[in-house]
Amino acid sequence: MSEKKSYGFTTTILHSDRQKPIEHGSLHKPVHTSVAFGYTDARQLASVFQGKEPGFRYGRQGNPTVSALEDKITRMEDGVATLCFATGMGAIGAVFQALLKAGDHVVSSSFLFGNTNSLWQTVAGQGVGVAFVDATDVANVEAALTPATRIVFVETIANPRTQVADLARIGQLCKERGILYVVDNTMTTPFLFRPKAVGAGLVVNALTKSIGGHGIALGGSLTDTGVYDWSVYPHIAPNYKKNPPAMWGIVQLRAKALRDFGASLGPEAAHHIAVGAETLALRMERASSSALALAAMLEADQRVAAVHYPGLPSHPQHALAGDLFRAYGALFSFELKDGIDCFDYLNRLTIAISASNLGDTRTLVIPVAHTIFFEMGAERRASMGIAESLIRVSVGIEDTADLLADFQAAL
Ligand SMILES: *Cc1c(COP(=O)(O)O)cnc(C)c1O
Repeated sequence: MSEKKSYGFTTTILHSDRQKPIEHGSLHKPVHTSVAFGYTDARQLASVFQGKEPGFRYGRQGNPTVSALEDKITRMEDGVATLCFATGMGAIGAVFQALLKAGDHVVSSSFLFGNTNSLWQTVAGQGVGVAFVDATDVANVEAALTPATRIVFVETIANPRTQVADLARIGQLCKERGILYVVDNTMTTPFLFRPKAVGAGLVVNALTKSIGGHGIALGGSLTDTGVYDWSVYPHIAPNYKKNPPAMWGIVQLRAKALRDFGASLGPEAAHHIAVGAETLALRMERASSSALALAAMLEADQRVAAVHYPGLPSHPQHALAGDLFRAYGALFSFELKDGIDCFDYLNRLTIAISASNLGDTRTLVIPVAHTIFFEMGAERRASMGIAESLIRVSVGIEDTADLLADFQAAL
């Protein structure tokens, strides 16, 4: 398969490993479990250590199986380089570890994955200012910028209330101000949306979710899209400026975050995720169309108070989502009317499973306020638009008719 020709998403992913020589012609990249990598010429080992030639040295900084997955994600995001981490949070934490210093400022969407929200609170306690804004309107982001703002951080479709960030306008604003734009693409995945198209410099993917897809491995990634000009970033250490500027960010992230903090992805997990990624497009198509059918069915029912899904015309960013995304995603949330207890409802479902996690092949449901958003308290939940009865649904790849019947019967 020629590197130059442009193929569709799934063809590209399936044949990604073969772009580089694979051991014994093996069709799957083998799982390399070795921690150390030996050299017959000690000078070559030194040269690899000094970054003068490519090669592996120690498993924490890189591994051939992980590196094949990194290449695959780079292709998915149409980026220039990717780093994998043990979890999605490991990838987001790396941005803080490698790129921010006390006195810096971050503007973040307030509609965030709960643990990312918690991470930014931690960061705020370590001398980095964090402003939380309603990122569905670029004006709020612009108003929060200060001369010390280094990073703007948003999710594409926020989990669990599905607000869609003003992605393109925020990208334009960041470009004008030379600010690094970091977009968490977990909910859309590179199949539905490429943040590079709206000017994101770094893209986060929680590989644990739809990319791996089967709920059997944790992982996260950061992709440098090549859009951001690292030569204007103030905190690149002189050491890392020996490389071409396009590589400064990823080189510093690899050393200062992955190497020094050590949240490395293991080769077995990388293998599971790479196999899962082969069917990402097929799964996202099925799950997105089932999510739309379920959301529409629930919205039409008298017993349901509200349904949040970008695919519904009632969603405030429905038109924007339609312009940006290939489909509206596998995740929606809804609120039952007062008479129905959300726990009773969940217990009546027979296919959907009460469990944390999303992007699984199985449909998973969770009472948000009582679980993943419990720790933050009622006040912060209210500010994020999280109702106490909110149920989050991560739609799997079961047959659509079975899911419709399950959610209907439980009402
Ligand atoms: C799950 C998730 C993460 C974190 O990923 P983990 O692999 O669980 O650490 C980050 N962002 C979003 C949007 C997520 O859904």
